[in-house]
Amino acid sequence: MAFEGLSERLQGSMKKIKGKGKVSEQDVKDMMREVRLALLEADVNFKVVKKFVNDVKERAVGQEVMDSLTPGQQVIKVVNEELTSLLGGEQSKLAVSSKSPTVVMMVGLQGSGKTTTTGKLALHLRKNHNRKPLMAAADVYRPAAIKQLETLGKQLDMPVFSMGDKVSPVEIATKAVEQAKEDHQDYVLIDTAGRLHVDENLMDELDHIKTAVKPDEVLLVVDSMTGQDAVNVAENFHERLGITGIVMTKLDGDTRGGAAISVKSVTGMPIKFAGMGEKSDALEPFHPERMASRILG
Ligand code: GDP
Repeated sequence: MAFEGLSERLQGSMKKIKGKGKVSEQDVKDMMREVRLALLEADVNFKVVKKFVNDVKERAVGQEVMDSLTPGQQVIKVVNEELTSLLGGEQSKLAVSSKSPTVVMMVGLQGSGKTTTTGKLALHLRKNHNRKPLMAAADVYRPAAIKQLETLGKQLDMPVFSMGDKVSPVEIATKAVEQAKEDHQDYVLIDTAGRLHVDENLMDELDHIKTAVKPDEVLLVVDSMTGQDAVNVAENFHERLGITGIVMTKLDGDTRGGAAISVKSVTGMPIKFAGMGEKSDALEPFHPERMASRILG
């Protein structure tokens, strides 16, 4: 499971302090040294680790903690609150446009899980929010992507808009939005093309689609197994394109978790959903507080 190593180490480092009736500054320092190492080992961005450790220390050696009846517990509470804040604080929901349809552009590198997530999100919107999504196949470069989305559409009994791979993605996206308006679909999820690496042509193309359809949401799909790279990718996409939210995929795998923990602080953009498996129902709204509690046990 994701975060397993990190979780174990963090819990281990907090064990000593947990039951303490008195906590000294040295106790907090010792604990935070271990916490720091655990986070670095889990591939959390070093700047993020530094700030986290300082923030916790500052609060944990304060009066409010030291003078409390259960200082050990209070220190742990501070760690939990700071981790929640690092993961994004309040849960961040998917945009809803006041004017139907809400347009969502799905972007990300090839293999990150973009097409799968498009299907998952469509199902989520229908099942949990009673919405009618249209999926649009605008990935004209990966040979199997259009077919993959059409197959997903059949499986989920969800409409898919496609014009083959000889038409420009901008045109596909624009027409898809028109079609959704005509058919009274209230979401359009545009599956765009990825590349193996961030590349100028791709960014230009995504930028053109964005200008054409003015999406309410640009969701970056990020593979959480790719560690620090995932954070760099997110930074690049955000700088170049302006994303509005992130979906971390493959959190069901044995990722060390660093990307999920750093990505909000580094980009300022919230994680909105977590991919928890290959199946279409394996998508969960991301709850920073629950995730922090899960990690800290
Ligand atoms: P795309 O190139 O970004 O469109 O990527 P795909 O949607 O084709 O996904 C690439 C691979 O990742 C596929 O084998 C998916 O089944 C798998 N995948 C996507 N999301 C998840 C997830 O949350 N968990 C797991 N375990 N696999 C996933």
